[in-house]
Amino acid sequence: MAESDGTIVLVGGGAAASAAAIELRKQDFEGRVTVLTRELDPPYHRPAVSKELLGPGAAEADIWWPPRDWWADHDVDLRTRASVTSLDVGARTVALADRSALSFDAALLATGANVRRLNLPGSGLAGIHYLRAPGNAHKLRAETQRARRAVLVGGSFIAAEVAAQLTVAGVEATMVMPERAPMQTTFGTAVADHIAALLVENGVRLVCGEQVAEFSGTGGVEEVRTDAGTVLPADLVVVGVGATPDTRLAAKAGLELGATGGIACDATLRTSAEGVFAAGDVCEYFSEVHGRRLRVEHHEHAVAQGVTAARGLMGAPEPHREVPYFWTELADWALLEYVGPAGEWDTERITGSLSDGEFTVWYERAGSVVAALTRGRPDDLDRARELIAG
Ligand SMILES: Cc1cc2nc3c(=O)[nH]c(=O)nc-3n(C[C@H](O)[C@H](O)[C@H](O)COP(=O)(O)OP(=O)(O)OC[C@H]3O[C@@H](n4cnc5c(N)ncnc54)[C@H](O)[C@@H]3O)c2cc1C
Repeated sequence: MAESDGTIVLVGGGAAASAAAIELRKQDFEGRVTVLTRELDPPYHRPAVSKELLGPGAAEADIWWPPRDWWADHDVDLRTRASVTSLDVGARTVALADRSALSFDAALLATGANVRRLNLPGSGLAGIHYLRAPGNAHKLRAETQRARRAVLVGGSFIAAEVAAQLTVAGVEATMVMPERAPMQTTFGTAVADHIAALLVENGVRLVCGEQVAEFSGTGGVEEVRTDAGTVLPADLVVVGVGATPDTRLAAKAGLELGATGGIACDATLRTSAEGVFAAGDVCEYFSEVHGRRLRVEHHEHAVAQGVTAARGLMGAPEPHREVPYFWTELADWALLEYVGPAGEWDTERITGSLSDGEFTVWYERAGSVVAALTRGRPDDLDRARELIAG
């Protein structure tokens, strides 16, 4: 495709699709750009769903990204409530649920991920929440006004963020997880223990080494029971047990999928079909920086991949060489930032002090830095990026 014309279709209304649209116009792509999202809302900042939208300033929070008038101002055809039901990679067309169809010269699949749902006794009871979109946060916040006790299922960053927000809102929050401490799988034991101590200090209760086995209640959830027999009274429950990449469209179109469950892409984010790219949570790509295949579920990574994919969509593909970055905020108690991902590491070297709350953990494998996590030392992130990329 010529670099300045043609028709590009972006499937998805998240960070990756938005970043691709912005980059296309920034690069003076003059062709037609259509964004198809099945969401009710125009694209927004998804991380706000477990942060600003649960906090005291929720009503005034500006979550739109890009700003709502950006689309029309840049002649991008944004269609909400537009669910793509199939993709024909040979004919280069997409079909929508409303029975319309669109042809394209190049397409991006940025279909993201869906929350993993629990299938346990009582998991259909009212008062059990999952967080992905603003509507989920509004509903949870409304129930929070009447709740005294909440149970957070999972040791993930989302469960920890929500536990912090609920505690600030005056709700007694208890996290239940199989790990010994929150975020242990990603950050290792030292950081996980630090986060556990921070949460407990601020009033969050932790039940570690146990899994939720059952919910019970009449009408709505009233109790959570773990596999170890612990019973926790709960007026509401929030589940944060991960997400699964949404590859339904890609699989139906016969695109190759990768070992991580995402859409298999090369280093330039091109899928197994000519002219079709993927980006964001759904994309498994070969990272030249890491020398292995990666799939990353983080906001800034989705944005960076949208930018890279835009080059490919315009017919000038380039390898995606960004080192993935991620942050998590526990109310205003702590901001943790991470570059990596480590995958595996054999050594954790700490500079600064965990007990003072200002530190960087350098994750090393065979003497080389493969990731770093910092609280309060953001300059270390640039150094870590250089070391990882080098
Ligand atoms: C509550 C929450 C908090 C988070 N906080 C952080 C954080 O603090 N830091 C961080 O780094 N990351 C955070 N993340 C992760 C981050 O938001 C994601 O990595 C990022 O949103 C991925 O962007 P994406 O564009 O790949 O996918 P998504 O944002 O999931 O967007 C995918 C879009 O595709 C649409 N779609 C899917 N299939 C179709 C179809 N067939 N037709 C039309 N549309 C379709 C979906 O409706 C959706 O709009 C958080 C995630 C959640 C849920």
